[in-house]
Amino acid sequence: MRYARIDTQSDPKSGTHPSTEKQKNLSKILVEELKDIGIEDAEMDTYGYVYATIASNSLKKNVPVICFCSHMDTAPDCSGTGVKPILHKNYDGGDIVLPDDKTQVLSIINHPYLKKHIGSDVITASGNTLLGADDKGGVAAIMQAAEYLMTYPSIKHGEIKILFTPDEEIGEGTAKLDIKKLGAKFGYTLDGGPSGSLEDETFSADAATIVINGVIAHPGYAKDKLVNALKVGAEILHALPTNEWAPEATEKKEGFVHPVRFEGIAEKAVIEFIIRDFDDEKLKQYGKRLKKIADNVVNHYKGATIEFSINEQYRNMKKILDQFPQVAEYAAEAIRRAGLEVTTESIRGGTDGSKLSYMGLPCPNLFTGMQGIHSKQEWIGVNDMAKAAETIVHLCVIWEEKS
Ligand SMILES: [Zn+2]
Repeated sequence: MRYARIDTQSDPKSGTHPSTEKQKNLSKILVEELKDIGIEDAEMDTYGYVYATIASNSLKKNVPVICFCSHMDTAPDCSGTGVKPILHKNYDGGDIVLPDDKTQVLSIINHPYLKKHIGSDVITASGNTLLGADDKGGVAAIMQAAEYLMTYPSIKHGEIKILFTPDEEIGEGTAKLDIKKLGAKFGYTLDGGPSGSLEDETFSADAATIVINGVIAHPGYAKDKLVNALKVGAEILHALPTNEWAPEATEKKEGFVHPVRFEGIAEKAVIEFIIRDFDDEKLKQYGKRLKKIADNVVNHYKGATIEFSINEQYRNMKKILDQFPQVAEYAAEAIRRAGLEVTTESIRGGTDGSKLSYMGLPCPNLFTGMQGIHSKQEWIGVNDMAKAAETIVHLCVIWEEKS
């Protein structure tokens, strides 16, 4: 709750690192708290990243260095200013009306997962802002686990790295990360949902851009000459399938293409797309299919041309994780030791973990308990956060045991 009160909203338009200076307000507190529990090398760099090391206390020399990572920023979708977290003790199963906006009501109907928390404590925001459990729930779990390991040296573990990143929500969580300095072999992000969930697969993602060059002429004297780029663009959008290959028509393992921006003038227009699938090969085909659709449209307009480009965004982490099966296996074992059932899930999106995995740090995602993220109805169960912390401790022990 202390972390949630600090405004750490990131900003996709800023272009700086971190995207908002205020994220460092949380970085600084975390560094202080890490030092207070005896982690002397805790530091914040100029980009707001927090790095810290819990030294190995194992006699074994071959225990790999493991990293636990969470992001400190909150989503730009919903206000993060003046967050007032509320602790609802011993939740009774009834509706939770948020006091600052009484139209915001959490109930078992719209948040069925609340049912699991009857009789225990839940945390919500107050109605005007998000809570920021995404991902301060993860930050709290890592901090709690770190404190536990520092307090009980009888628990044997290898070297543990702690990493807190800015700007995950705007896709730049790893932009200024010094992976060499971090020096970890394997990692885990704490940025997942319901307790027991272990995510080892994400989308692979590309961005596509179509620039449409029309043919311009004075509209008064344009007969048989003018080609309006906006109209060509609209026709390309219209030619996209609506009952498949769209986010609104797909689920589970199905991929899609999704226009996210369309702007321009009669002379020139630009359409931006995101393309998603779990399979890299399919992703490539999607790009070709999109280009073909656009070519077919523009070919009907004499003089008009398109420029088509694709930019890689991130790749499915599973391809990397499959090369190191112990990373996910140990996580599942840790979840079971915490008394939970493991649910393995595929994320229809990306996490810092997808990028980290391709930067050389294989990195599945673990639960924190966060729910209703990026909204005023965001909430988290205290027990879930405690279980996340417990899972981290078990993981440290398992890596030491099995080395
Ligand atoms: Zn997150």
